[in-house]
Amino acid sequence: MKPEHFDYLVIGSGLAGLSFALQAQSHGRVGILTKAELAESNTSYAQGGIAAAVGESDSWQLHEEDTLVAGAGLCDREAVRFLVTQAPDAIEWLIHIGAQFDQMVGPEYFNQLALGREGGHSRSRIVHHADKTGWEIERAVTSAVRATDRITFFENAFVTELLMTDGRCVGASAVVGDLGTRTFSAKAVMLATGGCGRVYQHTTNPRIATGDGIALAHQVGAKIHQMEFMQFHPTTLSHPQMRNFLISEAVRGAGGILRNHLGTRFMYNYDSRLELAPRDIVARAIDAEMKRLDTWCVYLDVTHLSPEKISEEFPTITEQLAKVGILPHKDWIPVVPAQHYSCGGIITDLNGKTNVPGLYAAGEVACTGVHGANRLASNSLLEALVFAASAAEAVRSETTPSLDLPEPSQSHCISETDAVRIRRSLQIIMTDNVGIVRTDKALEEAGRRISELRAEYDSLPSSAFSAYSLETSNLLTTAHYVVSGARARRENVGLHYNLDLV
Ligand SMILES: Cc1cc2nc3c(=O)[nH]c(=O)nc-3n(C[C@H](O)[C@H](O)[C@H](O)COP(=O)(O)OP(=O)(O)OC[C@H]3O[C@@H](n4cnc5c(N)ncnc54)[C@H](O)[C@@H]3O)c2cc1C
Repeated sequence: MKPEHFDYLVIGSGLAGLSFALQAQSHGRVGILTKAELAESNTSYAQGGIAAAVGESDSWQLHEEDTLVAGAGLCDREAVRFLVTQAPDAIEWLIHIGAQFDQMVGPEYFNQLALGREGGHSRSRIVHHADKTGWEIERAVTSAVRATDRITFFENAFVTELLMTDGRCVGASAVVGDLGTRTFSAKAVMLATGGCGRVYQHTTNPRIATGDGIALAHQVGAKIHQMEFMQFHPTTLSHPQMRNFLISEAVRGAGGILRNHLGTRFMYNYDSRLELAPRDIVARAIDAEMKRLDTWCVYLDVTHLSPEKISEEFPTITEQLAKVGILPHKDWIPVVPAQHYSCGGIITDLNGKTNVPGLYAAGEVACTGVHGANRLASNSLLEALVFAASAAEAVRSETTPSLDLPEPSQSHCISETDAVRIRRSLQIIMTDNVGIVRTDKALEEAGRRISELRAEYDSLPSSAFSAYSLETSNLLTTAHYVVSGARARRENVGLHYNLDLV
């Protein structure tokens, strides 16, 4: 079967991939490969919003300062400056393509965005759509993609390999639905595969977040950096019938109070910023409090807020909690921390370029340097937008490679029964040894066990193609980067906290 040619090939249909596609289509034909349905992505689940200094008392300088403080000295200053100065235009672009954000109510506020406040931000600057901002953004970008014939998208297209000729990325191969393996060539390939939360037992990330982009990049020699900086969201629902549902930071921004089971507002013992301290500090405080009291959760209390305010500002959260019988105006919400966001990834420059010619990356899979050792809340959707836009401009200079596409190699899949067992073991190892609080011994143990699981995976007999199996292999590769990054990091900074370094 002949390869299909596009000017630009995009892998992934979250905000990074689709906003890149929408901007690159003005100067070339774009093909999108995405492994599930078009809208299935981390992006769709984002609740809080997008940070941008668009409020009257705000400035990009303040946004920059807050981002640098959260990043704990490890941000790339140039990348942060680029991010925060581009933010207002990025919001304008989203509004231009049809995204609707909450506005201030009243004639004196005509056309003024309502801005939320989240931990680590010195101003209210979170542009949002109630508590389902990601859903609204994904709705807007998928509608725009469907409306243009310059973009072709393939759903259920699982990318198995980046194709290289003479050291240049010239395309990708994918298993497309029932059609089998297909190859695609392009002047430039944009890798926008999102995060890797499924490497842990408990994560807010949906099932697509299996670190495929990290493994694909690893295979072609792209540089991967700072994977040890794994962000754990402090407050996800802890309920036997619904685990890991995110209770947005905005709930604490609106006045939510964290209590232990005795009713004590324990954040007084950990940080003067209380519930609005940066996420890593709140997550570590909850972890410490649960260990100190030997309990399985703490509680988020919003019972002092009016039922109307809660249901108006947090309709999705209210609806989901009702399903398990929790009424937030009456009941404390049981919460625990869970993996949420990967700050590290494939190293890119301001134009989304990786060290591999022809290969670009954007969104959660990339490491642009804006997050440093810790991501400031609501900077990730922004990062996806800003760097996808600059990449869409940069790819204009790529020329059609006069290179033949190589034959794709055969991916090694194992039986799903074995893959389930290996994936579960990996998730337990990562959760027990490479979580919020780490030790040298635990990290060494994790490294050893992951190598054993990799050897076992590679030695098992080949089975028919299974996306689940390849994802498991990709999770093993990703876990290797997280653990080796954590072992190499010899200081406690940002999200990396090792008791042996205290
Ligand atoms: C519950 C939740 C709440 C969040 N809230 C916020 C928030 O309020 N503000 C904020 O800034 N950030 C938030 N985040 C983080 C933010 O949503 C993500 O970082 C961001 O959406 C990532 O966008 P992306 O385009 O890089 O990846 P994604 O949106 O995850 O898209 C990745 C795409 O790649 C595809 N893909 C993956 N592997 C392959 C493969 N092998 N072949 C083909 N396709 C593949 C997937 O199917 C998917 O379409 C939240 C995340 C979660 C999970």
